[in-house]
Amino acid sequence: MSEPSPVAGVVDTAEAVRAGEQRAEDVVAQHVARAKARADLNALLHLDEERALSAARAVDERRARGEALGALAGVPVVLKDNLCLDGVPTTCASRILEGYRPPYNADCVERLIAEDAVIIAKANMDEFAMGSSNENSAFGPVKNPWDLTRAPGGSSGGSAAATAAGIGAVALGSDTGGSVRQPGAFCGVVAIKPTYGRLSRYGLIAFASSLDQVGTMTRDVRDGARVLRVLAGHDKRDATSAVEPVPDYEAACAAPVSGLRVGVLRAALDQVEDPDVRAAFSAAEQSLRDAGCDIVDIELPHAHHGVSVYYLVATAEASSNLARFDGMRFGLRVTGDDLLSTYERTRAQGFGPEVKRRIMLGTYALSSGYYDAFYIKAQKVRTLMVQDYQRAFERCDAVLSPTAPTPAFGLGEKTGDPLAMYLADIFTLPPSLAGLPAMHVPVGLGQASGLPVGVQVTTPAFTEVRMLQLAAALEARSGYVCAPPALFGGAG
Ligand code: GLN
Repeated sequence: MSEPSPVAGVVDTAEAVRAGEQRAEDVVAQHVARAKARADLNALLHLDEERALSAARAVDERRARGEALGALAGVPVVLKDNLCLDGVPTTCASRILEGYRPPYNADCVERLIAEDAVIIAKANMDEFAMGSSNENSAFGPVKNPWDLTRAPGGSSGGSAAATAAGIGAVALGSDTGGSVRQPGAFCGVVAIKPTYGRLSRYGLIAFASSLDQVGTMTRDVRDGARVLRVLAGHDKRDATSAVEPVPDYEAACAAPVSGLRVGVLRAALDQVEDPDVRAAFSAAEQSLRDAGCDIVDIELPHAHHGVSVYYLVATAEASSNLARFDGMRFGLRVTGDDLLSTYERTRAQGFGPEVKRRIMLGTYALSSGYYDAFYIKAQKVRTLMVQDYQRAFERCDAVLSPTAPTPAFGLGEKTGDPLAMYLADIFTLPPSLAGLPAMHVPVGLGQASGLPVGVQVTTPAFTEVRMLQLAAALEARSGYVCAPPALFGGAG
């Protein structure tokens, strides 16, 4: 029986547990210990030690009885706190859901457990997944494991920080306009947002339903591919989940990329000022060229409207989705006389400023008189953005772009200016609005900042295989390993 390695990923852990080389209980105990040791990151809102250890023991017992274990045997998982876990607090990092324990598991949680994964914790996030820095959490910001003075990105900042810090071999996040990919970029982890409809949204607490997707964060591409295969598939409880076959994503990671045509948004790139982001992009472009890809210049003429369109569509949907959290149904366990005062208190402490701002913006965009001018107009431009991609994909098989315009910015640096914060999403919003699969691939550390940098790969709907193939090629040529120096003894 070998000691689990502190940086072992999904595939290595599952294979070691399946082969009986490691006990799931030891793996989980190690991750729980690391979670406690790195409480300073504030990456987690709930650590479920007892439940995790007993789930791990159950996996070990099944193996001891000679049963075959699943594809994620003993793999420790962190869940963003907007994914429902039966009986465990699920707050969306909001006071308004304090005390809420869902009576059921999200579809993706069921699928993880069916493959013998072990859920160890719920991750901090921006309140109701609204934000790009994790500073909108009601439970305080998360620190970036690469530099504790910097933001981990958002809204899945806790998931990204945990993964980079080796707390859990995989974390699930949700991505509405970039919330898996942008924190993935800030923390230097692989972050996959699948095609809209590829995974079920059942049990993911809604922000903007036409955009929300569950996504994965892992330390390498193959790990992400394995988890994606487990999570993907039709679920009749989510009317938007697709009835598409699920290919072998893991096998895709080994396929050659020569001959693939990779589109580059030259005009958008010229507007990026950050030297590290520019250098990472050039290096990625060159490594794909070296791998035999054809690089073609493309245009997405309406992509620059992404921020405006997104902040109308997403806030409109949020204002409708969040209307149910009026303090009467969730988080309250009071009766009779207490009810009114608790109701008042919950409302007063209820939503944080960013959530309120978005509900107001969304309500305004949907109000009669402004509905056509804002909401309908935004939907029309969204259609033009979809058509831009359709045209682009006649000329290329994938689009390569930066994921975020800068590496991780400092905590507090953008909190005073919501618009500056919204601009962190300029590259992640267009694929979200078009429903396309997109992922962040780290390619190295920036020379100027010393922080992780990488690129975003976007492909046509339901071609995750091709996206992963390119991501694996980029990863292999980069030599990047996710090892923040303060955590892994300077190995970064
Ligand atoms: N940062 C974007 C926002 O604030 C995206 C959030 C998300 O993808 N959940 O809305």
